[in-house]
Amino acid sequence: MKYTNPKELAERVRPAEKGTSDKYSWRLHQHLLKAHPSQLQVWISAWNGFDGHNTEDIQNWKAHKTMPRAGVLMLGLMDCDYEGQGNWFHGKSLNQICTPGREKHGWAFGPGHHTREWVQITDWFWKQYIDKGRCTFFPHEHHWLSINANSRKCAHCLQHQNRQIYTERIKKRTEIWSPQAAH
Ligand SMILES: [Zn+2]
Repeated sequence: MKYTNPKELAERVRPAEKGTSDKYSWRLHQHLLKAHPSQLQVWISAWNGFDGHNTEDIQNWKAHKTMPRAGVLMLGLMDCDYEGQGNWFHGKSLNQICTPGREKHGWAFGPGHHTREWVQITDWFWKQYIDKGRCTFFPHEHHWLSINANSRKCAHCLQHQNRQIYTERIKKRTEIWSPQAAH
């Protein structure tokens, strides 16, 4: 599938119940319904509001294909070398799109946001999102189902986890100074 048709993509990731996120985000579905075909690009930003310049997510994605954090996953359009002024990105982070109450307007990110270092992951990202849903980038959104007392599986991304219990025996050493016995 080529991710160039916002309406088609919106239908593919529509939550079952109106207004409620499940495997897919309701807000991202709504965003896609209104998006222009050129605004479906997904980039990993080399800049974020907390750390400033930070390429950790880009390096982790290049090395291990680790899903970047929602705050550096950017959805929109990269205008490369815009009139000789460098690369300008127009869009929003997935965090902004999916979090209720966040501002609705998009932002422009210029060369000061290290836009030349941003990495485009459009096809990879949409395939991951269609297969596994929003818990790929919101790990606290896993929908765990118990298989038995010691294992569980996420109903959305199908991640399987086993429980392990460790017993820790703590050895404690205490130092005591006492007066020397009289001779
Ligand atoms: Zn999950």
